[in-house]
Amino acid sequence: MNNKRIIIAIDGHSSCGKSTFAKAIAARLGYIFIDTGAMYRAVALYALEHGAIVSGIVDEDRVVAMLGDINIDFRFNPERGASDIYVNGDLVEGKIRTIEVSNYVSAVSSIQQVREKLVKMQQQMGERKGIVMDGRDIGTVVFPEAELKIYMTADAHVRAERRFKELTAKGDKVTIEEIYENVVSRDNADMSRAISPLRKADDAIVLDNSHMSVEEQMAWFDKEYQRVLGC
Ligand code: C5P
Repeated sequence: MNNKRIIIAIDGHSSCGKSTFAKAIAARLGYIFIDTGAMYRAVALYALEHGAIVSGIVDEDRVVAMLGDINIDFRFNPERGASDIYVNGDLVEGKIRTIEVSNYVSAVSSIQQVREKLVKMQQQMGERKGIVMDGRDIGTVVFPEAELKIYMTADAHVRAERRFKELTAKGDKVTIEEIYENVVSRDNADMSRAISPLRKADDAIVLDNSHMSVEEQMAWFDKEYQRVLGC
């Protein structure tokens, strides 16, 4: 096995299993895994809880003004085999994946100053390589020099179904229709925003996992990883 440590950038549509895939890869390689969506969600949650989103409208100036008060860090949780996200020392992992946060996160993530702050943090985390990072702009903006770039997608109905099962298993009261609508509208917002829109990097390889099990995705990954390392 080659010991070279690389950067693996995973981008793609909402709810297509990027984090599950990235986490499995990181565990296999002994790499750090960073879910950058969790960072944007943490900022959206903070904005919701501190009055920067009122009557369904994101007050961009207030979000920007509070950025200096938001300290995000990750701490490894051995039970999950991944890092939990904290804001100002509070564990927010369980609060950032609600449909309410999902409904505002794309608007919050389109604010330039929010992106500047989070991208800088993400780049620092990858300085020593040996990292798998998933998001929307990892292969295009955060690490354009990443050795392996994967662009993930899946049929929107399949994605909504997966997210529905995940949320209802946790006891959230949601309908499949509202999840489908959220998934599609977040894709549209993320792909059409002016700053760092979601797009496939020219050198990314596409993984459509609509009809693939996690095991099949890992077998696909192993081949691509060996190819990149030249084994
Ligand atoms: O990955 P996840 O679905 O949790 O991301 C939530 C939202 O955060 C996305 O819909 C997108 O608006 C934003 N995001 C982003 N750039 C990233 C990661 C997430 O804009 N690198």
